[in-house]
Amino acid sequence: MKQYFQEEHYMLQDMVRDFAANEVAPIAEELDREERFPKELIPKLAELGLLGIPFPEEYGGAGMDTLAYTLVIEELAKVDSSVAITVAAHISLGTYPIFLFGTKEQKSLHLENLISGKYLACFGLTEPEAGSDAGGTKTTAVRDGDDWIINGSKNFITNAGYSGVCNLTAVTDPTSKRPGGISVFMVDPKTPGFVVGPSEKKMGWRASDTRALTFENMRVPGDALLGELDVGFKQMMAALVGGRISVAALSLGLAEGALAAALKYAEEREAFGKKIHRFQGIGFQLSEIATEIEAAKHLVYYASYLKDQGENVVKAAAMAKLKASEIAVRATNFAVQVHGGYGYIKEFQVERFFRDAKVLTIGEGTSEVQKLVILKQLLKGL
Ligand SMILES: Cc1cc2nc3c(=O)[nH]c(=O)nc-3n(C[C@H](O)[C@H](O)[C@H](O)COP(=O)(O)OP(=O)(O)OC[C@H]3O[C@@H](n4cnc5c(N)ncnc54)[C@H](O)[C@@H]3O)c2cc1C
Repeated sequence: MKQYFQEEHYMLQDMVRDFAANEVAPIAEELDREERFPKELIPKLAELGLLGIPFPEEYGGAGMDTLAYTLVIEELAKVDSSVAITVAAHISLGTYPIFLFGTKEQKSLHLENLISGKYLACFGLTEPEAGSDAGGTKTTAVRDGDDWIINGSKNFITNAGYSGVCNLTAVTDPTSKRPGGISVFMVDPKTPGFVVGPSEKKMGWRASDTRALTFENMRVPGDALLGELDVGFKQMMAALVGGRISVAALSLGLAEGALAAALKYAEEREAFGKKIHRFQGIGFQLSEIATEIEAAKHLVYYASYLKDQGENVVKAAAMAKLKASEIAVRATNFAVQVHGGYGYIKEFQVERFFRDAKVLTIGEGTSEVQKLVILKQLLKGL
């Protein structure tokens, strides 16, 4: 993949690999077992500049490109998907919309704090009755003088318990045909009426923080509106395109981590007097999965590259996310199978990898939604 990368990318990749090996890997199993959010890693990630990779230096960012950011998420996910999604949600969903659409004042209020890890950011789009149909937002924001009064709820919000700002969607023009008439508000979770639910108990990503949010007559000032009025759905979709590339990178890293574990075990373990990779049922699947991962890698890096070129990446991001998440599920499933009974025991990291993979075909648009997005783009090209 040398065509995509410069020396600075490889240096960054080495740094993140060392960080993941030295700081994340030793606690990954414990974080998962205890369902503990890795709060202690946030200042370390910030110190290495990993919370600000794609943002300009004027805000304390690294001023690097999407390819660099992709490498960071991929490397973290090889070791711990919970840590990777904490960073990816913070950057792509929490910070990026403010960077893209915020006014000068909004950017100077938040970006430095977000990049320096003073607090995290979250993205409140999904609601109990509006998931794939994200434009079906029921949360409302009604003007009251210069303020807005927000009522409603959000579901499954990553980083919600550790955020200092939450970008949430609400209907501001109920007469407009959905998904129009929706706006984004940047809300301080300390605002009265902002109710944070308990951390969800999950199959995987157990060290990632996921919560429901409820807004009860929550009064926010006029300057909490992100950018312009009534264009919130478009803003969130723009953020999601970048988010999909980061989830694709996460999926790629997890698939690579699973393949590495499967290969190592298949080389060590013997049955019927042979190393188990010598049974074609195992060996051929290792080859097939490695090939699929390589294909996903091309899609993920290509989508990142296109984004850096300022191209429309809706289709490329959806394809990368679809392919990489599906191979992550397959690779982790197979890695457990290769480990036999040991794969089912928590002591072996493939057990965690397997549980962490499933959400990748669901979050930031299910596989079915990615196919709808791809199809729409294909038809547009006719
Ligand atoms: C751990 C986790 C973290 C998350 N983090 C966030 C976050 O930070 N912020 C946020 O806003 N959201 C977040 N989400 C929400 C996530 O994006 C949604 O769960 C996802 O978009 C699916 O929505 P849903 O759960 O309502 O499922 P539904 O939309 O109800 O879908 C149910 C099933 O129906 C299928 N389906 C729906 N519509 C169609 C269609 N038109 N054609 C074909 N099939 C269809 C879906 O693919 C799926 O298989 C998170 C979810 C999880 C599990």
